[in-house]
Amino acid sequence: MTEIQIAQSVTPKHIREIADTLRIPEEKLEYYGNDKAKLPLDLIDDQQIKLSKLILVTAITPTPPGEGKTTTSIGLADALNLLDQKATVVIREPSLGPVFGIKGGAAGGGWSQVIPMVDINLHFTGDFHAIEKANNLLSALIENNIQSKTRNLGIDPRTVIWKRCMDMNDRGLRTIIAALGGKAGGVPRETGFNITAASEIMAILCMASDLEDLKQRCSNIYIGDTWEGTPVFAKDLNAEGAMAVLLKDAMKPNLVQTLEGNPAIIHGGPFANIAQGTNSIVATKMGMSLSDYTVTEAGFGSDLGAEKFLNIKCRAARISPKAVVVVATIRALKYHGGKSLKEITQEDVHALIQGLPNLDGHIASLRSFGIPIVMSINVFNTDTDTEIQIIREHCEALNIPVALSYGWEKGGAGCVDLAQKVMVAAASCTESFLPTYNLEDTVSVKLNKICQIIYGGDAVVLSDLAKAQLRKYEAMGYGFLPVCMAKTEKSFSDDQKRLGRPKHFNIHIREFEIAAGAGFIIPIAGNMLRMPGLAATPAAERITIDKDGVIEGLF
Ligand code: ADP
Ligand code: MG
Repeated sequence: MTEIQIAQSVTPKHIREIADTLRIPEEKLEYYGNDKAKLPLDLIDDQQIKLSKLILVTAITPTPPGEGKTTTSIGLADALNLLDQKATVVIREPSLGPVFGIKGGAAGGGWSQVIPMVDINLHFTGDFHAIEKANNLLSALIENNIQSKTRNLGIDPRTVIWKRCMDMNDRGLRTIIAALGGKAGGVPRETGFNITAASEIMAILCMASDLEDLKQRCSNIYIGDTWEGTPVFAKDLNAEGAMAVLLKDAMKPNLVQTLEGNPAIIHGGPFANIAQGTNSIVATKMGMSLSDYTVTEAGFGSDLGAEKFLNIKCRAARISPKAVVVVATIRALKYHGGKSLKEITQEDVHALIQGLPNLDGHIASLRSFGIPIVMSINVFNTDTDTEIQIIREHCEALNIPVALSYGWEKGGAGCVDLAQKVMVAAASCTESFLPTYNLEDTVSVKLNKICQIIYGGDAVVLSDLAKAQLRKYEAMGYGFLPVCMAKTEKSFSDDQKRLGRPKHFNIHIREFEIAAGAGFIIPIAGNMLRMPGLAATPAAERITIDKDGVIEGLF
């Protein structure tokens, strides 16, 4: 059965029933049909959050299709529920870019999925659309101000860094000339689009603690400079009120369910290579307010996802995971051991052993946070017993508990061993995580600490442009912000070809961006695209619907 056939073989329970298991009063539910509801922020309860156990799911350096973090997160939450624990999985909303591109949906896989899968992967409750509108409202206000004779702030159009956004992989919009069409069409200038998942509004929504904070963060967005060089912010355009109005419902976490009828909260969807890569702070806090265990995922490998999850999100939200699950696949380790994506379905003990240093690198960097670690081997049906034995012994030698997970094949029942090991690990955790850097460190010190402690590299090297931008942003008072590293997900280094556990490398920062509203400074290593393109054979070509409304091809 394909993912979508499995997802559609289960009739979702009414969302009221799911809410009941979390003891959410009926009047608090905002229904979006029968199987989706929004949850108001006043359900967040700081006392309960202190008692709840947060479990972070991360991974080794992934191959392009992903190693199964979402699948494992859902399977683990289902398994915890099977063990009579009250557990909620809290994950990101999928972006349409990957849905129609190469990676496919992001609602889990096999028998560990969240439903209604089609809705979740497409328009869901409209959050992405609202984010896009708020983003583009600010663009319209900027364009209008540049055009205005009476209210002109004197914005130098060449300095405007704010871009429009759309949730689609459309390479043709990456760089554009806007405002053509003569005098009434505005002042022509070079600009572009970001994909919605990489927009600052997405980052803001995921960092904001409530509507007031959301508005405040929107007001702080840095747009560009005047002709005299004075910085201009969204507040100078009185934009924040209307932007927050557009986002009022998007700010509320969405309640859905797993295939096994357990609660799932899905909210926010920033990418992990160019943004913070994890669901909203309010969604995580909502899960923690309503359940004993909250299982959540941070995008890509631990060098990107877990580092930002901890140093940016958890620090800001004042929460700390009780255990970190590292998802590894034998296939990916063989890839790190030098095999091509086509070859990794064949048994290859040598390549597996060659690839194990990648796993060691992730364990080493995660150990720096001081949180208990559990390895989860996401088993594929191409894995052999000999290979499984090798990786198991390797983890045991590292003194890391290791579970074989079959969430994809068996749902929660396939992750019971993992759940038991996670419960033991969480019970042993008494301290909050140790951040990699202090907010008082200079940006350069922060970057070097991430490079050395998390990536295992030597040093960070800034381009001349990056140096000049950093001087400017530090002078504007942004030096105290956390850094949101934009780096390839394919390697610990900034060179995607260096697989495994590279040594002796520098991280090259090409330029900096500032997300003054979201509250971080973004060092960009290499050529990171905030507007991806589609693959040569995009998934979109395989997706269709028949006369009865049955959908195919949506993974
Ligand atoms: P991640 O969250 O790490 O990106 P996902 O959980 O989304 O990864 O899984 C990526 C893809 O791999 C999905 O299409 C999923 O169905 C598939 N997948 C995950 N685990 C398995 C498995 N054990 N066997 C077969 N396919 C799997
Ligand atoms: Mg995922």
